[in-house]
Amino acid sequence: MLRMPEPDQHTLARRKDIIAAMRDIIPSQGGVIVDDDQLRPYECDGLMAYRQLPMIVVLPENTAQVAAILKYCHTNKIRVVPRGAGTGLSGGALPMADAITISMMKFNRVLDIDWDNRAAVVQPGVTNLGITRAVEHKGFYYAPDPSSQIACSIGGNIAENSGGVHCLKYGLTTNNVLGVEMVTIEGEILRVGGKGLDQAGYDLLGIITGSEGLLGIVTEVTVRILRKPETARALLLGFNSSEEGGNCVAAIIAAGIIPGGLEMMDAPAIKATEEFVQAGYPLDVEALLLVELDGPQVEVDYLIDRVGKIAKDCGAVYSRISENEEERLLFWSGRKNAFPAIGRISPDYMCMDGTIPRGRLSEVLTGMQDLSKKHGLGVANVFHAGDGNLHPLIMFDANKAGDLEKAEAFGADILKLCVAVGGVLSGEHGIGVEKRDLMGEMFTTDDMKHQERIKMAFDEDQLLNPGKVFPTLHGCGELKTLHAKAVADKFPDIPRF
Ligand SMILES: Cc1cc2nc3c(=O)[nH]c(=O)nc-3n(C[C@H](O)[C@H](O)[C@H](O)COP(=O)(O)OP(=O)(O)OC[C@H]3O[C@@H](n4cnc5c(N)ncnc54)[C@H](O)[C@@H]3O)c2cc1C
Repeated sequence: MLRMPEPDQHTLARRKDIIAAMRDIIPSQGGVIVDDDQLRPYECDGLMAYRQLPMIVVLPENTAQVAAILKYCHTNKIRVVPRGAGTGLSGGALPMADAITISMMKFNRVLDIDWDNRAAVVQPGVTNLGITRAVEHKGFYYAPDPSSQIACSIGGNIAENSGGVHCLKYGLTTNNVLGVEMVTIEGEILRVGGKGLDQAGYDLLGIITGSEGLLGIVTEVTVRILRKPETARALLLGFNSSEEGGNCVAAIIAAGIIPGGLEMMDAPAIKATEEFVQAGYPLDVEALLLVELDGPQVEVDYLIDRVGKIAKDCGAVYSRISENEEERLLFWSGRKNAFPAIGRISPDYMCMDGTIPRGRLSEVLTGMQDLSKKHGLGVANVFHAGDGNLHPLIMFDANKAGDLEKAEAFGADILKLCVAVGGVLSGEHGIGVEKRDLMGEMFTTDDMKHQERIKMAFDEDQLLNPGKVFPTLHGCGELKTLHAKAVADKFPDIPRF
């Protein structure tokens, strides 16, 4: 059961004054949302198992308004929850009853495209795909491509350090962001990085990327844009076991080939996806690899041939190569629609996001089947195999008593297994509230103290997105927090929050 910080009664008692102050800052129609029925769409993000109506929602239109809101919140000790498009899967934008949710979706303009420096300057509410749409007429694109790219915002991508199927070769968000403008909780406007490839001083951009809305609100983003590869072709490779599929992934990388994308699906995911989008996936295999090779035509043709041979040596029983662009996109449409495909066959699903060393793939997939039996819930696997980033989709029915708790316990066991084999809790979806209480599995108390010191340097009063990422107790000791795991061991009876 998810516990969040208790709402601050003093803040709730001042709600009317806070609304008036927000209306002074954002005078335009619809900029401050206060009615329950209009607040409802903001009650959760993509992790729909947890919901909470925000105290109010504001939709600022420019950086000066964001600065004024944060300055007011800092002076009056009011909590804030930054929000992009609300597609996050770890509950990072989950509202709080006593907090202002700041939606950045009115920041939706492309500000500048610098073709010479191959950079685009955009506002944080621009969708991921919107960046590619703005530059594709000249043969460019923005590489990181989350499956949610049609909806998710670049601000959310930065906060989560999002990935996608092409990140194996082209890097995650952190490798493609060149600079940001960010407003601190005091209302100061910082500019970090720029169009150049290097920056002076500490790598603050590296800290801001992946900070899950805990350090400030990003109000402008500069990203790298790339030339579209001359050619791209995709291969579908089927295997009789996940082990063979996993071995093939390792063999491709070991051969020095870095595909544009290297994805894997298990039998339940293949079946659900094929029924949904008819991408032409084989239904009689246990594991399916989707490998994309991109670059100059001659190189792609050569690599397709090499990967085909490697797959054969690894026991592939099915092989199909895309013959044209339409077919390549069809192959991908299956993978990109895998989450909604599972949504069709299960009332609810929870998407996990552990990352493991590639060599432990088959061991972890087998372990997951054992855990599926233990918890009595089904699981389908769709994942960025090249990165070792797993996305087990746990199927459950939230309307069935006890099912959500079972799904939570199953998910926690999967992530513990990932950490036990040398992996990490999150590959690209972030910690949020979903994995917050598992931080102690991966980090020692000292590790977490160092991370918290960075948080405190930006936001000493912990007003920005509280209750996310760090497990904390109510009573504030050193660094104003106590670590759940360390303290829980000593004082098991102390309730958290
Ligand atoms: C069907 C589906 C498929 C998905 N596939 C992928 C995938 O392939 N790869 C992947 O990485 N993710 C994926 N996701 C997860 C999600 O889309 C990403 O995490 C995305 O980056 C979230 O962006 P958002 O705009 O929706 O952010 P939100 O969900 O609104 O917020 C996410 C976090 O960012 C913070 N935030 C938002 N905007 C700002 C800002 N301007 N300044 C500071 N903090 C901010 C919020 O506080 C929160 O902590 C998927 C989600 C869905 C529903």
